[in-house]
Amino acid sequence: THFGYQEVPEPEKETRVRRVFSSVAGSYDLMNDLMSLGIHRLWKRFTVDLARPRPGQAVLDLAGGTGDLAALMYRRVQPHGRIVVSDINPDMLAVGEKRLADKGMLAGVEFVEANAEELPFPDRSFDLVTLAFGIRNMTHPERALREIHRVLKTGGRVLVLEFSHPRWPGLQSLYDLYSFNILPRLGELIAKDRESYQYLVESIRRFPDQETFRAMMEEAGLARVDVHNLSGGIVAIHRGFRF
Ligand code: SAM
Repeated sequence: THFGYQEVPEPEKETRVRRVFSSVAGSYDLMNDLMSLGIHRLWKRFTVDLARPRPGQAVLDLAGGTGDLAALMYRRVQPHGRIVVSDINPDMLAVGEKRLADKGMLAGVEFVEANAEELPFPDRSFDLVTLAFGIRNMTHPERALREIHRVLKTGGRVLVLEFSHPRWPGLQSLYDLYSFNILPRLGELIAKDRESYQYLVESIRRFPDQETFRAMMEEAGLARVDVHNLSGGIVAIHRGFRF
């Protein structure tokens, strides 16, 4: 693409992503905690703090399968708030629905199976869109960004939490060691699924860096885009607004 990163051929990528997430759905939470040493919880908390959901607002959590962000935002949008958790994979959505049900957080929450590249929502329907660790799995991230822009109300904001490229000197080689040696082994040991975790590592490598992704958000029409690097840039939050 003109953003200079390689895409896997389309139907292949979509099938692969579907298979990966159906395969890992059951062990996903445990693996998330192990892989990030629990730090993904802090990254998600930080994202929600930055997103500042407010009572009564309409929030869309895209690729929200696990329900993690929805659970963190739930009390902040109540009373009268609305949270839509949307994901392309029904197995992942089922994980999220169960989590929210266990927490007694189903009132005002909807679960919608949909491709983020073609959202079934009217224009300008959400105050806030969140998207955590999902966009790098999409075949056309630029289409998803345009859809996000379309469904945001004027003055609404989007926060994209995603793996990015380490910024601290020395961190990259440590991170490489972890990604190429430890992580696939953990995948094999815990989830009995080395291939899926290998795929996750590759998809992180291929994903555009902070500045490239910022440009993609701006190209989709989002304004005042800023970037917050977390854990030395291992992950980054890109925030943008619709005006
Ligand atoms: N947001 C959750 C979290 O942070 O715990 C789940 C992240 S999980 C790594 C990535 C999710 O993206 C999966 O549930 C997958 O089904 C979903 N996904 C992948 N491609 C998608 C697409 N085109 N549209 C919507 N969801 C998609």
